[in-house]
Parts: sequence; structure tokens; C-alpha cells
Amino acid sequence: MLPLRKIHKRVLIVLFIRGDLDMSLTKTFAQGKSRLSNVLNSVSVAGLQQLYKGLFPMARETNIAVASRLLPHSQKCPECKTELEAANEVYSRIAVCDHCGYHFVWSASNRVEHLVDPGSFRPIGRRIRPMDFLGFVDEHPYSTKLILGQKQTGLSDAILTGHCRIGGTETVLAVLDFHFMGGSMGSVVGEQITFAFEYATRHRLPVVTVINSGGARMQEGIISLMQMPKTAAAVQRFHTSGLLYLSILASPTTGGVFASFASLGDVILAEPKALVGFAGPRVAEQVTGQKLPGGSHRAEMLLSSGQLDAITTRHDLPHVVATLLKATVVHAKQRRSHSIYTNELPLVSAHVPRHTAWESVNLARHPDRPTARDYIRHLSPNFLELQGDRCYGDDPTVVAGLGEIDRRTVIFVGQERRHGATGEIQTRPRPEGYRKAIRMMDLAAQLHCPLVTFVDTSGADPGDESERHGIGWSLAHCLSTMSSLPVPIVTAIIGEGASGGAVAFAVADHILMLQNAIYEVIAPEGAATILYRDAQKASQVAEQLKLTASDCLQLGVVDAIIPEPSLGAHTDPPLVMEALQHHLLHAITELEQVPVKRLLARRYRKFRHHGRFQRRQYLLTRASVAALGQGQSLLQQLKGRLHMAIISRLSATLGTVIERRRWRHA
Ligand SMILES: [Zn+2]
Repeated sequence: MLPLRKIHKRVLIVLFIRGDLDMSLTKTFAQGKSRLSNVLNSVSVAGLQQLYKGLFPMARETNIAVASRLLPHSQKCPECKTELEAANEVYSRIAVCDHCGYHFVWSASNRVEHLVDPGSFRPIGRRIRPMDFLGFVDEHPYSTKLILGQKQTGLSDAILTGHCRIGGTETVLAVLDFHFMGGSMGSVVGEQITFAFEYATRHRLPVVTVINSGGARMQEGIISLMQMPKTAAAVQRFHTSGLLYLSILASPTTGGVFASFASLGDVILAEPKALVGFAGPRVAEQVTGQKLPGGSHRAEMLLSSGQLDAITTRHDLPHVVATLLKATVVHAKQRRSHSIYTNELPLVSAHVPRHTAWESVNLARHPDRPTARDYIRHLSPNFLELQGDRCYGDDPTVVAGLGEIDRRTVIFVGQERRHGATGEIQTRPRPEGYRKAIRMMDLAAQLHCPLVTFVDTSGADPGDESERHGIGWSLAHCLSTMSSLPVPIVTAIIGEGASGGAVAFAVADHILMLQNAIYEVIAPEGAATILYRDAQKASQVAEQLKLTASDCLQLGVVDAIIPEPSLGAHTDPPLVMEALQHHLLHAITELEQVPVKRLLARRYRKFRHHGRFQRRQYLLTRASVAALGQGQSLLQQLKGRLHMAIISRLSATLGTVIERRRWRHA
């Protein structure tokens, strides 16, 4: 074994002979690392430990982000068995199989280089070092494993955190490195993650994590387990800062990391076919004694069961991450500067022909009528759809995500009647859809973005599975969440708005209704069946239900009507979309000027007012509804009623006076 002093000398001689002494240490870590590794391979583990102590201060001063990346070794793709080498362009650039798209495990420094703007990565929290709390020994002592991991990755532990720019947006990035003890979370990973979130909270920066981890680190025992609540608490605190936490799951992501901060992202993305799960497949089969079904523990399975927002290829990640960050940060900046949008609302034409209630019902349900997705696409071409209720699944009858209107970020949630590749019509959202909506409402509150909802449903799904998955709970929580959401909410009723399934999306500060849309407590067919045992009487009941836009405006249930072409919105969609955009923008701009406290008080009063018992209002409402029914003006109707009311009131007063006089005389 070489004495320590000689090792130092040899390292210096090697560097000197190759003319590296004038090269800046901050630029040469990768080269230095590869040369050093030749030297390090020649010494024993005990010598290595000594050497590491001497050399690590140098590593600490280096900038890993700009280290040039060595090409991956040539190897066989485990999926398609193709032999991959440097000549394979995609494989050598981003470690993805050129033939089948298999994503190989990638190092933290490669990830950093791939995601961040060149030269912008500044490591944070790197003074935090691992400790062998328990003196743990399995096949090798833990301390030896640490040194080997450090030697292999150039990191002090399985994580690299830093302050950087992604697509121009200042961000805190934390990447786990699977090459360091399987990316497991010991005290250093827990500490660096916590520190990264605290740093981001302090500096008001969004956080991106790239997870590649087998879970908690056994070699640090119960202290590793304690990193789960610690990191979860740090994320929870960060959530109050009003900024985005984006979690990216790479293969594999399992155990205590998956079950703590990795799953707490506001948005969670995963790479294709990534192995993701709480227990790894081997452990799951051993514990349950059953073989796992095909596709289990894969990103695709998690997406379909509502646990992920999207699956994104490694190639697309930089663009998607940059877009998400920009959308949320731009809005934060806009909040600080006051909006100058002051356009007047276009007046709704009084001359548009009024359809009968039944005609409106048919127009509202017209198969070619534009749907929520059409409106969102028109309003926000860069719409980023987010999926999943984080509980059971993703409901395609609810479309939700981040978009923008006139360069301001908004959260869109819409009931989508046409979906799937075949464009099948399905209008009944399930509890998964409403829970996804609640998730989006919470995101709007966190990011302080206005919420825009679209109502277009023939009611919530009433099936057995919906009951089992809590349809009542989901509807009730949509109502209560919207009632106290501290951001402006604008709802547009664009088609049919039937029953609880519709109103659960419509607890808004401003409610717009398309001229031929309908809003109803029950579908007319249902009402006719219940009242007359005859669905044929639906058209008659439709008139009685007062479900048209003008009825709803008169009853104070909606705030404005958006005109449609006389034959319906489907005959000229761009015209209707333009009008809707104008109204939406105007409403949002106006609502953003209202302080949150007053906004919430106003929203409470708005819904408190519906059906509030006030005798005078009750008489007026009855008169106005009766007038509507008989085609009279309200004034005509009131003339007769007021007369009766005054006489009855007067006679009651007179009667009391006469009674009193009689009593006195007696
Ligand atoms: Zn392949």
C-alpha cells in the first residue's frame, strides 16, 4: 500500500505531465475524475478512504453541470436486444434506445446537463456529508460503500441539488443518482431535499426533482425512515409559497422516496415504461405470494389509474419542464403588475330571436356543438393538459390543465362531452373527474391563478362504480372547495348544465351562459317521467323548468349571456369563441382587482342570496316568474298584485286599530 503523501504526489505528477495545471479546476472535474479513477483503482479501499478525504475539497469546488459527458458504454438494449454503441445517435445523446425507445438509467450530472440552460447550474447544499450512524456492515462496511459511490459518481451522496435556469426560468433542481447506492434516501438525500425546498421557499423559486431511487437506505436504519416525514413536511411548507413543484419519476422510483416527496408534486411526470411503485415487484410478489399482472408497477399503469399527469419522453422533457415553469412563474410576475385591460363588454343584442325551451334543449345537445376542449384550444393554443385524480383513475370527460388567456396563466377545468379517438359522446363525469377538478382548484389556489370552468354535462354518472368511488363526496367537495377558493372563478355554461353534476363546476364569481345553453335541476325527460310517467311530455316540462339562458339571467342564476348565431353555436364556432374570450378576459380582469377577502365575501353572498327568504323579494320573484309565463311585462303583473297586497296590508292594519279602539272603549 502506498503512503498517503506519495499518492498525493503521484496525482500531481500525472496532472502536471499532461499539462493540466493551468486549466481551471472548475472546468475539469470530469476529465480529472476519469484520470483520478485510474490512480484510485490502483489503491486499496482503506487507502481510498484516506485519499478521498484529501481529494474531496477539490471535487467540492468543481462545477458538475458543465462537465463534459462521456458517451455511454456500448451495451445491449434489455427490451429489443439491439447492440447499442456510440454510433447510435439517440443512445449516445440521451441514453435512449434508438430502436425501441427504452430509457436507460442516467446519471445525475447527465440529467442536469440535459435539463438546465448551459452554464447556469450552481450546486447548493453540497457541504452536507454522509455519516455511518450505525456502523452498519453487510457484505462491505457502509463507510466503504459510501466511498465507492462517491468515487463512481463524483457526488458526496446519491443527490445533486442546485440553483439553475431551465428555459430561462430560475429554478431549484434536485436529481437523485441511481449509480450511488441505488439512489437510496439516507440522511444526506433527506437533508439536501429539505434544504432545496427551504431554499426555494426563501428565494421564491419553483422546484423540479428528478427521482431515480430504490427507496429509504437500510444502512442508516430508522434515521432513513425519518427522512420521509421530514421531506414531506418541507414540501408542504413550500406549497404555501405559491410556486410549482414538478416531480419527474425515472426508472426505477420505489419505496420511501416514492411514498414521500416524489409523490407530492403539483405536477407529476414519468418517463415511458418507468418502473414505479411503492414496493418493488420482487418484494410485492414475495409479500403477497402472488405473481403480479403484466404492466404492473409501470408508468403507463399509474397514468391510467390517475397517479400521474403525463408520460413524457426524455427527449421532450426539457421543453415540457421549461413550458410548465414559464407558465407558473409568468403569472406570479403578472400579479405584481396591475392589468391595464379596460375594454368594455360587448352588449348582448336584444334582437336575437328567442328559441323555445325545447329548441334550446336540442341546440344545447347538438352533436356538432363546440365542446370544452374546442374552447380551451381556441383560448389557449399552448394548453398543457394534466391528468389523474391521484386516487382511482383519470376521467376523460373532464379536461383540465394549465393554459393562458391573453398572456395570463389560468387553470382550465371543463366537462368534455366528446372524447377518445373516435370522438364518442359521453357526457356523464365520474368521481375521478370531479376529484381531478378539485386537484386543479387546489393548484389554482396555490399558484394564485384564476380558475375558468366549462359546464357541459347531462349529469354526473349515477352507476354502481361511481357510488363506490364516492360520487357524492366528490360533488360536495367541488362545491365547498370552489366556495372558498381564494382566486377569481369564472364559469361558462356552454351546452347542457344538468343537475348536481353541473353546479359542482359552477360556484363562480361570474357565470356566463351561451344563448342556447340550458341550466336545469333535472333533464326535462327525467322530470316528465317522474311527474307524468311520460317522457313524451319533456318539451312541455322544459318550458316549466325555466332552463333557458334568458330564464336563468332573469332568475339571477347567471350573470351574462353570450350571443350565438340564430341556428346555434355549431354554425359559426369562431364567432362564439371570440365572444366568450372577450367576456372571460373582461371578467377575470375585473375580478383580479378585487381583494381576496372581499371576493370571497361576495361569492358567499351571491349563493347565499338564491332562495333567501325575504317576503318582498318572494312576492316580486313570483310576480316576475308569473309574468314571464303569461308573456306579460313585470309592471303589468305587479299592477294587479300590488293593489291586492296594499289592500290586504291596509285592512290588516285597520283591523288592528279598530280592535284596539274597541278594547279601549270596553
Ligand atoms: Zn431497444
